[in-house]
Amino acid sequence: MKPYLCPNCKTNRSRFNRIKQVSTSIQLDPRSGEVISECSNGQLASYHMDYQGPEYKVQCGACGLIEDERTFLSFAEHNPLT
Ligand SMILES: [Zn+2]
Repeated sequence: MKPYLCPNCKTNRSRFNRIKQVSTSIQLDPRSGEVISECSNGQLASYHMDYQGPEYKVQCGACGLIEDERTFLSFAEHNPLT
């Protein structure tokens, strides 16, 4: 674990909501939008790009900002507690 600091309110280092991103790959009927198939990672067709985003999003418990986890990590890194 590394410290977080909210880049928006710049004061909150302790209260956060950590949102785990769970990706489900789906194939839709292009007309109806109906799900034709769902597949887990490793079963994707070669032309279907897997989810590349961050594992966690983080919401500031003070001001409500939602950003990638690395945004909170790097702001804390550049503004260490003294
Ligand atoms: Zn905040």
